Amino acid sequence: MPEGTTMLLGQYDHWLVLVSWLVATLASYTALDMAGRVASSADHVARNWLIGGAFAMGLGIWSMHFIGMLAFSLPIPIDYDVSLTLLSIVPAIAVSAFALKQVTAERLSVRRLVVSSVLMGVGIAAMHYTGMAAMRMSPGIEYDPLLFAVSIAIAVGASGAALWIFFLLRSDRAFISVHRFAAAIVMGLAIIGMHYTGMAAAGFPEGSVCMAAADKTLNTQWLALLIIVVTICVLAVALLTSVLDARMDARTSILANSLEQANRELSELALQDALTKLPNRLLLENRIEHAIERAKRESETFALLFMDLDGFKAVNDAYGHHFGDILLVDVAERIRELLRVQDTVGRIGGDEFVLLLESATADGAATVAERLVYSIARPFSLEGRDLRVSASVGIALYPNDGQTTQDLMSNADAAMYHVKHAGRNGYGFFETSMNINAREQMQLQNDLQSALERREFVLHYQPKYVAPAGPMTGVEALLRWQHPQRGMIPPDKFIPHAEKSGLIIPIGDWVLDEACRQMSMWYREGHTDWKVAVNLSAVQFSNPNLINGVRAALERHGLPAHCLTLEVTESTAMRNADVSLAILDRLSEMGVDISIDDFGTGYSSLLYLKRLPASELKIDRGFIQSLAENNEDAAIVSAIIALGQTLKLRIVAEGVETSAQQHFLTGLGCDVLQGYLLGRPMPADQVKLSMGQAEQKLKA
Ligand code: C2E
Ligand code: MG
Ligand code: MG
Repeated sequence: MPEGTTMLLGQYDHWLVLVSWLVATLASYTALDMAGRVASSADHVARNWLIGGAFAMGLGIWSMHFIGMLAFSLPIPIDYDVSLTLLSIVPAIAVSAFALKQVTAERLSVRRLVVSSVLMGVGIAAMHYTGMAAMRMSPGIEYDPLLFAVSIAIAVGASGAALWIFFLLRSDRAFISVHRFAAAIVMGLAIIGMHYTGMAAAGFPEGSVCMAAADKTLNTQWLALLIIVVTICVLAVALLTSVLDARMDARTSILANSLEQANRELSELALQDALTKLPNRLLLENRIEHAIERAKRESETFALLFMDLDGFKAVNDAYGHHFGDILLVDVAERIRELLRVQDTVGRIGGDEFVLLLESATADGAATVAERLVYSIARPFSLEGRDLRVSASVGIALYPNDGQTTQDLMSNADAAMYHVKHAGRNGYGFFETSMNINAREQMQLQNDLQSALERREFVLHYQPKYVAPAGPMTGVEALLRWQHPQRGMIPPDKFIPHAEKSGLIIPIGDWVLDEACRQMSMWYREGHTDWKVAVNLSAVQFSNPNLINGVRAALERHGLPAHCLTLEVTESTAMRNADVSLAILDRLSEMGVDISIDDFGTGYSSLLYLKRLPASELKIDRGFIQSLAENNEDAAIVSAIIALGQTLKLRIVAEGVETSAQQHFLTGLGCDVLQGYLLGRPMPADQVKLSMGQAEQKLKA
């Protein structure tokens, strides 16, 4: 300041100073908040936020300056040149844009921070001093060089601090608004610090005239006030927009996150077995399909191993499902250890695992299968218990054992069942001779176990008539299995299984009891001359309890022994002829009627036949069905009838379907006829009704 010049004394309105600081802080906060949206937005949206932030900042700095100037008064009238004033906003916005861009970038180097702070500080200063120039003082404002330098240093330093705080803490979500607020306060201080230091540096010599005020083109004081109000409104609206948008974004991103999570879980669930985390059937089949395509393309082979644990059900039953689950997880782990990266193992049900060995040959598959069986046979230690299980493995090779996923799976499965039947704990290759229905059979066998308890058996009764047209002499009880899924199953389909498993004994007991119960009802209704025929299987026949069982059944229902016929096939009766003879003798002594079923199919020794205490002989329906006059079967049938007559046996023809057969058989000397012509096997309650209808029809 030149010596001797007196200076005009400026004065400040403290309230307006406070307002100026608030505006600077608000502008900074708005700008930083908008800039904060950059990182979490898409590219083009991010750019808009950045521009918005720069405008907020620039506008804020600019209007702060005018509030600061409103707060300041000189003893002379002052005003501002409009074009210069408007121009002064440009550097403010430009440097704000640059600085915000720097601090919203991924990384912020010291060099960049320094450059941005200097630019920001210089920008704020440039705005200020351009604004001051807009007063067009005459003579010019005299600046104190030191304070001038300090004002710029303050702008640069505080800008740097604010930008740095913002950058450092921008990702700390928890305290984001607190940190932003701190940065805004520092930035606000940078702006006003610069302004008031700059004002302190300015000297207005006595006699100065404000040319802008002298021009008096318009009262810019009021314009300034308007700008201030508008600025505050704009900033407030911008801030609100930014905050609301951030909220919405946060909610959207929470939604998007949970949606993504749900999707991931769903797809895992759809392709993964929840217990072992192995691929499930769906994924496995998909892999097999790919393997088929590749093998086709590259003319390669691959192998499918179907593994089932032996005795898993017993483990489950004995120790509980929880224990079974742990075992399965451990088994899955052991299988996984054996596989190469390109192989897949999946769990497709209970204790069934399928291994896909890509580009494997028969030898390779056998090696893996052997290791697998060996590995599973090692004891498992589960919850302090040592447990041994074994595995049966069936192998199918592409392309020889199947061209499709379905074929390969079911053939590997069949091979596995073959191993199970052959004694378990081993592996085997598929062979075309293997019954693909093996699994079905196994399932049937399982179901059979509970069929009795579940009361799934029923007896149907087929009437027998005195040849040629009645009356009815009785019925044959024929067993049916009312399977909950498969419907009515005929005896041929399940009796062989029941015989194999020994279940035929309790089932046979039930048949005997039920037939006697039903017959005793008919008996009491007056059908005292009827007989109910019950079929006995060979297994029952060698059961020492048979005789007692029969006696007990008769007694239980108060049925006379002569109302019961026991049908024994020719082959059963002849198998162990001496023993059979003894049993049949004792049954016969009880008064029970004995019938030789399916006669003609076995190789009866006439000698034994003569000694059998039978009273009835049923000609196998095979002969009856192909019966026509003068053919070979007709000759056999007449021979059987002749034989029966000499042995004084009642001759029954079963399977009579046509009236030609009916007449022919009657002509040959058959005593009793049974067959669809006279009546199909039917539930007990339909027997009497059908009898009436049949007798009418037959007489007609
Ligand atoms: P089966 O003792 O020879 O019984 C006669 C079979 O011939 C019955 O078959 C009957 O439905 C069928 N049939 C009767 N009339 C005709 C006809 O006109 N045409 C044809 N094509 N078939 C006729 P189902 O009921 O399927 O029984 C088959 C076999 O199962 C029986 O042969 C018997 O050996 C056995 N079975 C049935 N119930 C029992 C039972 O309770 N215990 C035992 N151990 N075996 C039984
Ligand atoms: Mg029979
Ligand atoms: Mg028969």
